[in-house]
Amino acid sequence: MTFNDLKLSAPLLKAVSEAGYETPSPIQASAIPPVLAGRDLMGCAQTGTGKTAAFALPMLDRLTANPAKKKGAVRALILTPTRELALQIGESFEMYGKYLSLRSTVIFGGVGQAPQVAAIKRGVDILIACPGRLNDLVGQGLIDLGSIEIFVLDEADRMLDMGFFKDVTRIIDKVKNRKNLGLFSATISQEVMTVSWMYQRDEVEITVEPKQEDRPDIDQFSITCT
Ligand code: AMP
Repeated sequence: MTFNDLKLSAPLLKAVSEAGYETPSPIQASAIPPVLAGRDLMGCAQTGTGKTAAFALPMLDRLTANPAKKKGAVRALILTPTRELALQIGESFEMYGKYLSLRSTVIFGGVGQAPQVAAIKRGVDILIACPGRLNDLVGQGLIDLGSIEIFVLDEADRMLDMGFFKDVTRIIDKVKNRKNLGLFSATISQEVMTVSWMYQRDEVEITVEPKQEDRPDIDQFSITCT
């Protein structure tokens, strides 16, 4: 399979080719068509499998195909547990969207909020956020989640393990006009299942096994006691 077969638009194909990607990774080949079609998705995949492009490429394509109804409104949201991941995802969006006119920004806690608020006020299509800071800014009335169409929870297991369950569900409850919810997680924990059960409908489920070299080198033994 090639990226051409996935029916992505020419500006994205050009950016992907310049990034040096020759063929879609398994998660990209499986996730891009349903996300392009607007389906909910549960992707069980670890970092390193190419999952960022799996949700970013179809998201960029859909946002470009459907122009904003409200100027400057946030139309896509990616929630991720840590500042490092948020920045990494932000860089990926810059790279994949370099030939598109969509704007993205990254928000996270532990730093002053003023520059983040200024970026949002200038208008962004795609917001990459950590849950704590996002809830803060929504609580202060500085971000409106009402125009978000596409919503992704990245590293959902880690985010929920870190005690963000309430923050996450509070945010999902406010994203009332979303057309679809993507959930990416390395493991499908009880809390991930709960969020999926509460908020996803008719989701496509995809599992990508980690590559052999990414698996921990653990020998297992069993002793039968009689
Ligand atoms: P991710 O799992 O999204 O963090 O991606 C892990 C790494 O794989 C990043 O450095 C990406 O740039 C790279 N990558 C993603 N998709 C592909 C692809 N189809 N071909 C080659 N490298 C890729």
